[in-house]
Amino acid sequence: MTAGLADAAMSTLDLAFHGAAGTVTGSRYLLTAGTSRVLVDCGLFQGLKQLRLRNRAPFPVPPRDVSAVVLTHAHLDHSGYLPVLVRDGFKGRVFATPATCDLCGILLRDAAALQEHEANRANRHGYSRHHPSLPLFTTADAEAALDRLMPTPWERPFTVDGFTFRLRPAGHILGAATVEAEQGGTTVLFSGDLGRGGDAVMHPPRVVAQADYLVIESTYGDRVHPDSDPAEDLAEIVRRTVARGGVLLIPAFAVGRAQAILYHLHRLRTRGSIPRVPVYLDSPMASAATALLHAHPAEHRIPPSVYSAMMEGVALTGSVEESKALDRRNGPMIVVAGSGMMTGGRILFHVERHAPDHRNTILIVGHQAEGTRGDALRQGARQLKIFGKYVPVRAEVAFLDGLSAHADQRELLDWLGGFERAPRTTFVTHGEPRAADALRMRIEEELGWTVRVPEHGEVVRLT
Ligand code: ZN
Repeated sequence: MTAGLADAAMSTLDLAFHGAAGTVTGSRYLLTAGTSRVLVDCGLFQGLKQLRLRNRAPFPVPPRDVSAVVLTHAHLDHSGYLPVLVRDGFKGRVFATPATCDLCGILLRDAAALQEHEANRANRHGYSRHHPSLPLFTTADAEAALDRLMPTPWERPFTVDGFTFRLRPAGHILGAATVEAEQGGTTVLFSGDLGRGGDAVMHPPRVVAQADYLVIESTYGDRVHPDSDPAEDLAEIVRRTVARGGVLLIPAFAVGRAQAILYHLHRLRTRGSIPRVPVYLDSPMASAATALLHAHPAEHRIPPSVYSAMMEGVALTGSVEESKALDRRNGPMIVVAGSGMMTGGRILFHVERHAPDHRNTILIVGHQAEGTRGDALRQGARQLKIFGKYVPVRAEVAFLDGLSAHADQRELLDWLGGFERAPRTTFVTHGEPRAADALRMRIEEELGWTVRVPEHGEVVRLT
């Protein structure tokens, strides 16, 4: 054993919650053992302004002192801070599954382009309070972060700076992993975002038998997904929108949700459950992510022949001009576009154009973080502020919860049921406060485990 490893073995192990504590975004968990520092997930804060401002605050430790990052998956609330971390001095590697690396290439480049675009737009129209408005990170920052990615195989343990990690399937989106970290004989398991047993597209999350400490997400910690078949609910919404001659707008995460929606639409069309109306995927990013289903066939349930048939029924729009041309079309048609919570992206142009017409439908699919336009619609808002103007919402606002890529309370407890013995402490994170606390209580009641809901910035000594 080298001196460095011996030091690490004798040292304390601390876990710091620098994000996804008290909120669903900004996943950043820092493990510290002596001078070794490894970050699990490096996410952006999204939603409420007070949360987004944290993206502009300095990282709690100097990024150059972090030796590596391990990602659970590519969603921006888990990976989107990487460009800032690298720009601010991080010199290490970023370990992630091959599909996560591919998806990060799509998501981080898109996020950078979007921020540059919005900063330009705000500066041109003068509606930002910051003068000049600056993107959080640039395309160059994103490229520098992507250069650090280290595609890492499933299941095979790897060691970095005295920590040994292992990635297992989490079933949430392509490449999504649970991350096990072991240091000095102590294991900490990070659930990342957990998928669902009965998902149409993804395989179920792999059961883990034990960990000394567990950090589990709670996005749906206080809810149970409806029993109804999401495909049937979707069919019903499509049929009534088409009957009105309307446009069905589906804001969707480019990665995960968009593919699930396309797959369900394909199956419904094939069965004759919905009329054959044009379906547009108006998101080059979602199109690229959908192509990754083809590149990583072992990671999902869609057979290659079905994938090909599915893509034949979808029109992909590329340029902004093509996207704008869509808005000159009348219904009936279905438009799937990002971003999933309507915080940005092409969906905003479509909502601006179609929300005022009662024949149309805006379909909210799954969880919407507080402070987002999607959340406002969930709360019953009848107008949305878009590009500095208020747009009336006369369109139907429909909800589809069954298509979530997250396990619900029951499914989280089922997954926890796979543990052969209780972790010493289970930390409930990645949920709004009510959801996290509800899950904490259920775990205490059903399993009798020791559970805590950590606070933002809290540091817990594990050994
Ligand atoms: Zn996710």
